[in-house]
Formats: sequence, C-alpha cells, structure tokens
Amino acid sequence: MKPMTRTDLPAEILINELQSFGVRLVDPGAGAASRRGGAGPSDHKAVTIDGMTVMVPVHNAPAFESPYLAERPDASGRSRIIRDGREVGEISFPLQPRFYGLKTADGIPYSKIAVLHGRDVLATTVLQTCVRFQSRAKTCQFCAIGQSLAAGRTIERKTPAQLAEVAKAAVELDGVKHMVMTTGTPPGKDRGAAILSESAAAVKAAVDLPIQVQCEPPDDDAWFRRLRDSGADALGMHLEAVSDRVRRRIMPGKAQVPVERYFSAFEAAVPVFGRGQVSTYILAGLGDTAEEILAVCRKLVALGVYPFVVPFVPISGTPLESHPSPTPAFMHSILEPLARMLVDGGLKSAEVKAGCAKCGACSSLSTYERGLAPAGGVA
Ligand code: SF4
Repeated sequence: MKPMTRTDLPAEILINELQSFGVRLVDPGAGAASRRGGAGPSDHKAVTIDGMTVMVPVHNAPAFESPYLAERPDASGRSRIIRDGREVGEISFPLQPRFYGLKTADGIPYSKIAVLHGRDVLATTVLQTCVRFQSRAKTCQFCAIGQSLAAGRTIERKTPAQLAEVAKAAVELDGVKHMVMTTGTPPGKDRGAAILSESAAAVKAAVDLPIQVQCEPPDDDAWFRRLRDSGADALGMHLEAVSDRVRRRIMPGKAQVPVERYFSAFEAAVPVFGRGQVSTYILAGLGDTAEEILAVCRKLVALGVYPFVVPFVPISGTPLESHPSPTPAFMHSILEPLARMLVDGGLKSAEVKAGCAKCGACSSLSTYERGLAPAGGVA
C-alpha cells in the first residue's frame, strides 16, 4: 500500500459525496457491525473522516454502484478512498463496541437493546412497532422499523431496566457520551412520550448520561415538562419532509399531524428544554426544494429549534428503496446557507446536550458549521 496522503477533497465535500453515493468496501467486515433496518440510519456503517464520524451507506443499491471504493484498512484501521483509480481521501473505521459482547441475565444480547451510532452515541428504539407501520397506505415510505424486528436483530419492547443496564455498560466499557431514545408511535394520544419518560428516568437513575428523546408531538404539551423532569435533556420531533405535497406522498399517516401542530409543539417545548435543545430531522431529497427546506429552517431557527437536515438514503426493502439520494450539489446548496443561519442564530451542534444534532453523523451539516463565526465575529 502507498503511504497515506491527506484528504484532497474538503471534508464536507467528501462526506456529501460518500453519503450520496455510498461506498463499496473491499473488506465488508471492517470496523463496527453495520446497521440494517430499524428507525435510524440504516444500511450504513460508521466511518471517520477528518475527525468527524459519519454514517455512510454501504448496503443499499446506490452503494453497490458507487464510484467510491474503500480499500482494505491497514493495521491502524485506516483505509484509502479511491475514485477512478485515484486516491481522493482516507477514512478510518471505529472498532466494534465492547458492550456488544454482553447479554442480559435472561440471555438477550445488549446489541438487541441498544446500538452504537456514530462515534459515541448509544441509540435505541424503545418500541419497535408503530401504529403507522401496520398498513402500506399509512406507513412512512422511508422507514424500516419493522425490518430489523422481523429479522430478529432487535426486540420489540425494551424495558426501562434493560435500557438502564445497557446504558451503564456502554458508558463504562465504551465511553459513550450521550443517548438517543426514539420510538415507533404507539396507539395512545401521548405518541410515545410516556414510555420515553419512564425509560429516561430509569437510565438517569443508573448512569449520568445526557439523553435525547424523540417522538411525534404528543396530544398535551404538559408532556414536555414531564419528559424534562424524568431526565430527558433534549427533544426531537421530526418533520422529515416540510411541504404538504411531499408529506402526503411520503408519509401519509404522519402527515395527518399538520406542520402547524409541530410548530405549536416546538413553541411549547423550547422554553422547557432551552434554545437549541429541541431539534427536528429533515430528509432532503424526497421532493422538497432547497428553498422550501431553507424557508422552514429559517422559522425553526427563529424559534430556537435546531433543524438537522440530512440526505435521504434509500433503505433496501422499503417502498423507497429505488428512490435516488440527493446529489452532493443539492446538499451543498442547503447545508452551506443553513450552517450560516445556525451560527448567526446562536445554535451550534456542539452546544446541543444530546441527540442527532449533537452526533451529526447522518449529515455533513456540523462540518459546515466548523470554522464559521457569527456575522461580524471571529471564528
Ligand atoms: S445523527 Fe442521529 S440517527 Fe444519525 S447516527 Fe447520529 S444519533 Fe444516529
């Protein structure tokens, strides 16, 4: 192998390219196990580029055709990225976390209860079923929440005690720094806030770990105080798409909750959790224009909500498995002005206490933020 050279594409550009096109792996076993199915990033593997750990597609259809190839890692875990026979950068693979080797007393592997996302985030889907996943007419077209359950890679309901046990081990053995708790939406009006609340309380009683909880807006804004009091440090309520046109097509069930309800919930939640501690996840590439996404982001930032914009990645086995990912140029046209907007609005991923916006692995947004100073300030 030739000596390693420095990345010759800027980090944010290389991340955009790899997240859009995916990467072919000479050694599919390199690094930590990849995720398939589930409610978060899927068909991905965590890789580190220029100090940033990001999720890159390796198992979906675009990745098999990607122009980017990751060579077999060397002894230190570093791997050259090749395009058209030319080295364009290098990545490294985080190692398999040690807590994956453990099981509960009743024999459930810890990795079926929670998994490592990015570099130092423990992530779990507390309830692996969803009212919206029962029928094709209602299901969010991008979601694979039922697939990992059907394949036996996870369990349906993670109890508070199980989550506390795994969180403690992940902190002690692998140094995880924060935790993401998401959930499929149960039938009740609280939209999952109740199970998130009891789960957060159990984890906090076992270990000092910042937690982000993620759910749809509950029926009653009083849930935000209850979640905060139970130990949740940050909250995510995910729009996924911003225009009614795209929401109705891509997520017909969830689109019954109007965008206006998300905004009234954001307004109620920010005073409870604090500016920048409430966030939303927006999937770019499903049909919203860059202007539509940026217009909604402007309103969110004004409210103190962090809009985490990520490139849509098609997941095998979902109705959108053949839907293309957005181009790197489309992502750049959103993320560059969005990073400026965030920095000027005083919302930086580094200051988020827990969750996707802090982790940043599903987008190059925080890479764009790095080095930007507030308007009139010094970086
Ligand atoms: S950004 Fe969120 S979903 Fe993506 S890897 Fe990080 S914690 Fe997981």
